Amino acid sequence: MRKTLVAANWKMNGSREFAEAFFKALDLQGVSGDVAIFPPFPYLPLAASLLQNAGYERTFVGAQNVSQQAEGALTGEVSVSMLKDCGAHYVIVGHSERRSFYAESNTLVAQKFLAVKESGLVPVLCVGETLEEREASKTLDVIAAQLDAVFALAGGDCWSGAVIAYEPVWAIGTGKTATPEQAQKVHEFIRARLGAAGPQVQILYGGSVKSANAASLFEQPDIDGALVGGASLDAREFAEICRAA
Ligand code: PEP
Repeated sequence: MRKTLVAANWKMNGSREFAEAFFKALDLQGVSGDVAIFPPFPYLPLAASLLQNAGYERTFVGAQNVSQQAEGALTGEVSVSMLKDCGAHYVIVGHSERRSFYAESNTLVAQKFLAVKESGLVPVLCVGETLEEREASKTLDVIAAQLDAVFALAGGDCWSGAVIAYEPVWAIGTGKTATPEQAQKVHEFIRARLGAAGPQVQILYGGSVKSANAASLFEQPDIDGALVGGASLDAREFAEICRAA
């Protein structure tokens, strides 16, 4: 039986004051699965210590991005070892905003995935199709290519201990959630593509998840939780989503 994971992606939102108020308001009583918070880089140590002070078990912090390089003359970049130092447990790689706004290719995402894996942190690999690709019936081909690029580089046992997030680009921040059936179909495909590790890998859904639609998504057999953007900025709403998992 896979554990659920609900993850809060704050994106480039928040402040010290916001983080302090968020963790004060965050009440995870009654949550049985894992929970992770992904603040912007500067607030990682603060989030890690506030979460630790809250005393919940199975709660983690993660980073929204990382360099594929270990160190060097790379102004503005952050390495996996720095993230480890700051208390991160998870690292998101290949979020669609990074793929589209920062031109991150499947190859670069694969390099980042490998760097995270080799460091002992847990990669959360985001995959998903645009509306144009869905309408052209290319959804599964796009996702296969995104997964296969990682497997081609990281190979072997790369999926065990990793997390995958299926995030249809047309559902991110738009208020348009994939139906539970649409999401389940893709999650089932992803799980099959992961080979022997598939049955153990947590596959999250992301795209306009809120407390009102979370339960119907989590009822699907291959949906193991959610990556939540907008709704994760409200501690009470986020906790409700965590309780639904
Ligand atoms: C995301 O950015 O990963 C996301 C799913 O955003 P939202 O929940 O706002 O659609």
